[in-house]
Amino acid sequence: MADLVSHPDEVKVVSKRFGLGATEIDRYLELDGYKAVRKALGMAPESIIAEVKDSGLRGRGGAGFNTGLKWSFVPKQSPKPKYILCNGDESEPGTCKDRLIFEHDPHSVIEGVTIAGLAVGAHVGYIYIRGEYRYLSEIMQKAIRQAYARGFLGKNILGSGFDFDVYWHGGAGAYEVGEESALMESLEGKRGIPRIRPPFPAVVGLWGGPTVINNAETLASVPHILLGGAEWYAKLGTPKNGGTRLFCLSGRLNRPGVYELPMGYNLKKMIYDVGGGMAQGHTLKAVVPGGSSTPLLTREEIDVPMDFDSLMKVGSMLGSGGVVIVDDSACMVKFALRIMSFYQHESCGWCIPCREGTDWLKKTLTRFHSGGGVRKDIDDLQYLSENMLGRTFCPLGDAAAMPTISIVKKFRKEFEDHLDGKPCPLEKAEAIERSPVMA
Ligand code: SF4
Repeated sequence: MADLVSHPDEVKVVSKRFGLGATEIDRYLELDGYKAVRKALGMAPESIIAEVKDSGLRGRGGAGFNTGLKWSFVPKQSPKPKYILCNGDESEPGTCKDRLIFEHDPHSVIEGVTIAGLAVGAHVGYIYIRGEYRYLSEIMQKAIRQAYARGFLGKNILGSGFDFDVYWHGGAGAYEVGEESALMESLEGKRGIPRIRPPFPAVVGLWGGPTVINNAETLASVPHILLGGAEWYAKLGTPKNGGTRLFCLSGRLNRPGVYELPMGYNLKKMIYDVGGGMAQGHTLKAVVPGGSSTPLLTREEIDVPMDFDSLMKVGSMLGSGGVVIVDDSACMVKFALRIMSFYQHESCGWCIPCREGTDWLKKTLTRFHSGGGVRKDIDDLQYLSENMLGRTFCPLGDAAAMPTISIVKKFRKEFEDHLDGKPCPLEKAEAIERSPVMA
């Protein structure tokens, strides 16, 4: 199990049961578990949707779309069965929050999925977990078995007349499957590549039926909203950015870890107070604010509230909540290469701008970093990346292009320094680490 951290500024909502033994249903029940589903069973579906909508809960997977609004797009009547699909294919580098929810509070996901089912009239839910989280399978499957045994799943839930089944499904470990339409393809047993949209999943989704697809943290937030009320939840965050979120702080900090903070919490404070500041001997160079696909911020840009709209205003994104701290020992050319290598490897190859673009960018960055770069490469990297933006079937193309554009633009001097024969910061850092004085 991952180590848990805490800080006085945290507002524990989704994480309130972490470390308290809530993987067992009896403990979960002691800690207010399944109270929200009892409440939802007595509510009209429209009221559940309205409550979630008014809470300002926005998709925690990265897109940031209002969850209640998404649910409202599902048609009331459908000749085909409706489905709820929990996206636990957490693969964005820098992000490890859904893993903690599955590890410590699996019933909250089951409860959130069931409430979503009640809201849109679905009777089947799937919880899809990334392949690398296979070790969580037993925890999730045990929780599902316990929920069936206590009447929270199955036929006639709690005597209400409502039937709901939940299945756990483990992926095979592809980043691309985190995209919602590719997720559906994968669940249907096909190759995990995206579908052309429209139609959107809320109308034509799994096996052609209307489907709600939400991230695990999003669904785990729903029971808390129903119990605490939309107004309470909305007020925890900033306008149109309700609630809290799990931020995954990583990099050379004194206290890295996953912290639950109110939406809109200041990034600088997050780094220096919550994360304990930079580790001794290191200074801050840049921040990836929301997982590897989000444009980087320089150290001069970190005085910003961490919510969807504020990050957008400064040219970046809140994304999946993976806050990666880049310190002075990092070489930004190597950093761009590392990110591009990941996306080139994960590209499904379906569309040309992504398949060829990621490959050319990786090749150019590799040559550049190994000393074979020319001045024109810097503009070419920018040009190639900009031409991928908005020209691909799914967001992976943008995910590869956006950080690259920001790195080349904001750290151009480091690229030029490589050409001018100045030492790469990585080599400098390695030299310091090797020096007898440091030893
Ligand atoms: Fe596949 Fe990339 Fe196109 Fe997405 S953007 S469909 S990953 S080739």
